[in-house]
Amino acid sequence: MKKLSLVAKIGIGMVLGIIIGLLGSFFSFEQFVIDWIKPFGTIFVSMLKLIAIPLILVSLIDGISNLTDMAKLSRIGGKTLGLYVTTTVLAISIALILANVVNPGAYVSPEKREQLKEQYASQAQLKQDAASGVKDSGPLKLMEDIVPSNIFKAMTDNGNMLQVIFFAVLFGIAMIMTPSEQMKPVKGFFNGVNAIILRVVEIIMKYSPIGVMALLAGLIVETAADASLFVALGVYAVTVLFGLAFMVFVFYPIVLTSFTKIKYKDFFKGMFPAQLLAFSTSSSAATLPVTMERVEKNLGVSEEVASFVLPMGATINMDGTSIHQAISAVFIAVAFGHDLTLADQLVIVLTATLSSIGAAAVPGAGLIMLVIVLGAIGVDPAGLALIIALDRPLDMCRTIVNVTGDATVATLVASSEGELSEGIDPDDLTHEEKLEVQVTESDVEEFK
Ligand code: ASP
Repeated sequence: MKKLSLVAKIGIGMVLGIIIGLLGSFFSFEQFVIDWIKPFGTIFVSMLKLIAIPLILVSLIDGISNLTDMAKLSRIGGKTLGLYVTTTVLAISIALILANVVNPGAYVSPEKREQLKEQYASQAQLKQDAASGVKDSGPLKLMEDIVPSNIFKAMTDNGNMLQVIFFAVLFGIAMIMTPSEQMKPVKGFFNGVNAIILRVVEIIMKYSPIGVMALLAGLIVETAADASLFVALGVYAVTVLFGLAFMVFVFYPIVLTSFTKIKYKDFFKGMFPAQLLAFSTSSSAATLPVTMERVEKNLGVSEEVASFVLPMGATINMDGTSIHQAISAVFIAVAFGHDLTLADQLVIVLTATLSSIGAAAVPGAGLIMLVIVLGAIGVDPAGLALIIALDRPLDMCRTIVNVTGDATVATLVASSEGELSEGIDPDDLTHEEKLEVQVTESDVEEFK
């Protein structure tokens, strides 16, 4: 009998999680699900986060130290940043067109608006408080924050990925500049550790169907009470979902098929487990180890490119978040009776770009940064109360777009650098074939 693929197993985990969650809410055994099932999901997310920083550090040093040409590194950096900003601005523009055409804010009655404002006022206040630190910082704060003063401290916080990237790039460049005889053992060390970390990711992924099941079951029993809101805020939610789906099913396929030789079907098949995890965890950072594994192995992006482009993307490139911010800003503004001018819309493009860059790759971060977008167009940030209850399900969907956007840019950069090879799907290989691939890979390393 053919063994089930990982995607199929995760899919079964998701369905089971949804069924358990719905049964739990329906037959009122929510507490049982929260006490006895949800912890397996939390453990799964912790394991993914656990490996994220070591993975970024080691694979980036390993990738950069193999570079022979320093100019290539700055070229890859330039292309990456350029593509990240361009795709984000395009995503926001698409979102604004959608928001203006559909105008979801017009569908909220003043009574509903007041009711939501009152009901979610305290939660909205918490988000505003969280955003206040960001609002008060200077224009070069982002740059300042990238340079760590203590690398060990930086590595203790998953929110400091850019600092770890900075250190790894510096270290990698210094390795290239050091005589190769001295570097041989160091290179071998990072290469070996990198291989071990990738194995750890594989092991964690074996547990992913159970993790996903537990995460979804827990989420559903905790949020089922808010389901009625989907009806009240339906037009808004559908507009956001449409914008997100447009990116995944139209925008990225057009970009990929126009500029690379990869077939979108293969891209999608390769990325599907990462997308499912993005949906289940609502965190690009937690999904990163799997995104990196899939992009390298299944899509054939070289380690050099993937290890640089993807961690950076998880931190600064959030097309899904920016779409959500643009549509939500227009929605709240209209619901509060503001007339948005063209200048306001341009301000949304600018602030949503910056705030999606600044948003952390964790659940709910985009909503906090929305405070800044609203403030910039003169809308009361208390308006967050209108959309707060729907944030988690929309966050799950926008995180899929964030992760897919990162993988798209990694594929584009790799293709433009001649660093995109034929990917293989380890799921499609027999055990013997997998061993053969491993042997071939280590042979190549030895040969080098
Ligand atoms: N959850 C998103 C991510 O991790 C960020 C957000 O939009 O809240 O990519």
